[in-house]
Amino acid sequence: MSTRKDVIIVGAGAIGCSIAYHLGRRGISTCIVDRESIAVRASGKAWAVFTYAPAIFAYETCVTTPSEALGSGPLDTALTVPGESVGHWLQLHSASYDRMPEFAIELQERGGIDIEYCETPSTNLVTQREFEEAGGPQELLRPFQSVGGVECDWIDSDALREQFPSLNAEYVGGVTYPAGQVEPYKFTLALAQAAEKLDAEFVRGEVVAFATEGDKITGVQLASGNELHADAVVLAMGPWVGEGSALLGCEVGCRPVFTECLRAKMPTELPLHTLGAGTFWILPKKNGEVILATYGAADFIDRPNFDASLSEEVKLEVVQGVAHILPALEDATIIEHRGDLLAMAPTPPYQKPVMGRFPQWQNGYIASRFGGDGVCMSPAAGELMAELIDTGKAPLRARRMFDRLAPGSSSE
Ligand SMILES: Cc1cc2nc3c(=O)[nH]c(=O)nc-3n(C[C@H](O)[C@H](O)[C@H](O)COP(=O)(O)OP(=O)(O)OC[C@H]3O[C@@H](n4cnc5c(N)ncnc54)[C@H](O)[C@@H]3O)c2cc1C
Repeated sequence: MSTRKDVIIVGAGAIGCSIAYHLGRRGISTCIVDRESIAVRASGKAWAVFTYAPAIFAYETCVTTPSEALGSGPLDTALTVPGESVGHWLQLHSASYDRMPEFAIELQERGGIDIEYCETPSTNLVTQREFEEAGGPQELLRPFQSVGGVECDWIDSDALREQFPSLNAEYVGGVTYPAGQVEPYKFTLALAQAAEKLDAEFVRGEVVAFATEGDKITGVQLASGNELHADAVVLAMGPWVGEGSALLGCEVGCRPVFTECLRAKMPTELPLHTLGAGTFWILPKKNGEVILATYGAADFIDRPNFDASLSEEVKLEVVQGVAHILPALEDATIIEHRGDLLAMAPTPPYQKPVMGRFPQWQNGYIASRFGGDGVCMSPAAGELMAELIDTGKAPLRARRMFDRLAPGSSSE
């Protein structure tokens, strides 16, 4: 590292790079330290869907027994538990989703990379039996409408088959709503490059200890023996944040969970329209490829030892599941089977970020545990964390959110 920077950020995933970029915009220099490289873990391997927040509200509303939607595995209360508001993380979704069209242009200009942002319709397919049980399209749309999410429609089977002629005849239509998407590696790299132009520096190294004085963190020690010093330190270490926090004497529960997907190519490109049925997802991407995935209990496996090996069983399940929905996918060529560790909370609701300042440390911050949504929450998470670090106060518009998500808070 050539010069001392204002803030050290441990972790060069989407969260760490977004914080660096937003600090840079405030004139604060950063050193992003990672033992591997930029976006090599989950941040470079995500489906990278930016979720339309009302769709999540709808999901919350209609999933009265979450285990039915997510299988009966350990993640059956992934999003919320009775009595727990989901507002704490939906705010991050909404703010990020709304910002993306402009943000893509901003990152192209400042980071020099096309992040392949686009909006696509996303359709939850409905079978004849589900249609009859619900009592018609209006009933299926009701959960979306009941939460004020206006941008949803019923799409009938003719309209779907015009785009996907091989769609399995068991689907009679679907509930369709918007979603954004990016290419995750390019997105994170663009954030890092844009940050570099604003006085961020990337340093490869494993953080193994912290230097402290009283209640201040003065720097980090790397496995190489080198020390880096700064006025503040942020832990954006993804699933490894529990270990990093422990080095600071702080207990932050974090459960590493593994999830994976396939990158594939079709002889003829699929239309840019995401299809979901049951736990399976087919996500055509702007670059002409398609991501094939599942979001069920068979995936999302606990990996307490941080083992990131891929599962042939999940691969087979995905191949069979998506070909059942869209038989044309039997002609797909699989380009890559990829996956990585996500950071989840140890107790329900499992998908609950931890964000804010460590109460024990005047200048120690944390931003992690974004579960399966860290890419799409990173623009707002980076912006709010930068404001917190710069001003020393939680912004008024996010005061409650920081209260709920801060490490050591009663609801953390
Ligand atoms: C298959 C898959 C699909 C997904 N789909 C989506 C999606 O559609 N939408 C979405 O928003 N999200 C999705 N996600 C989740 C998303 O990828 C994560 O939430 C997000 O990438 C987390 O970012 P992060 O920066 O917190 O962590 P990470 O990307 O895990 O980065 C943490 C970094 O910290 C570094 N580090 C850890 N310990 C140390 C140390 N001691 N010293 C130095 N460096 C250290 C690591 O090397 C790593 O680079 C998906 C993930 C996967 C795997």
